Amino acid sequence: MILEDRVAIVTGAGQGIGRGIALKLAEKRAHVVVSDINGQTARETATEVRAFGRRALALQADVSNRAQVEKMVQATLQEFGTVDILINNAGIARSATLLKLTDKDWDEVLAVNLKGIFHTTQAVVPHMMAARHGKIVNISSIYGRTGTLGDSNYAASKAGMIGFTKSMARELARYDINVNAILPGMIDTPLLQGIPDHYLQPMIEEIPLGRVGTPEDIGNLAAFLASDEAPYITGAAIEVAGGWRM
Ligand code: NAD
Repeated sequence: MILEDRVAIVTGAGQGIGRGIALKLAEKRAHVVVSDINGQTARETATEVRAFGRRALALQADVSNRAQVEKMVQATLQEFGTVDILINNAGIARSATLLKLTDKDWDEVLAVNLKGIFHTTQAVVPHMMAARHGKIVNISSIYGRTGTLGDSNYAASKAGMIGFTKSMARELARYDINVNAILPGMIDTPLLQGIPDHYLQPMIEEIPLGRVGTPEDIGNLAAFLASDEAPYITGAAIEVAGGWRM
């Protein structure tokens, strides 16, 4: 599986799963636009991409801001002349049970996780349509399928991502653009490291494969879906969760 000289944008690639995906794509020989709201961590991941002998462009962009997303895509085209792969990974959580959930918690999570992929997809797709080729991978969550306690805004945004993925798969198939979603389970990233141990350990015991996942576990599937070896997969929502909450 080779992504020789493909150009990929990965959002939220400064750390965690996004960083893992960016490095896996670079290992498979893609050039990577490392985009993140945090410019410093984006630059750090870009340096790691270059260590694979690939080109990298670090860009600071907030996916909830349409103007910044458009600037990000323009900068990508200026540098590389094309964009073949879009990985919508940027995401946030604002945890609270229903009665404690504020409008702000709701709006922020929906703005980044769901409206963000509307912005990025709309900015990138015209170029993929013109090329009659493209791969879009949306990083949703197992919670988008199962729901969860204390994160209804997050689960709703992640379920929305699955609906958007399937709609885009239908709309864009005739341009040879594949659109899929990955539903990670519990993955070892800074997001997870914020969860108290007494809450985390019992959840790990529920995972049939007996461990949390790694960003590389997600990167492996993202790279496969972005490759020419997955031409007949579109509109799929694939769990990478070690069997957790299947
Ligand atoms: P993380 O918090 O470690 O990393 C998220 C990255 O996104 C950060 O670099 C952050 O700066 C960036 N970001 C945040 N808001 C942004 C914005 N508005 N615009 C651009 N970038 C922004 O999280 P992670 O665990 O690596 O999660 C990555 C994705 O995977 C998220 O969409 C998350 O919901 C999803 N996910 C994670 C897990 C898990 O267990 N870690 C499980 C299921 C789904």
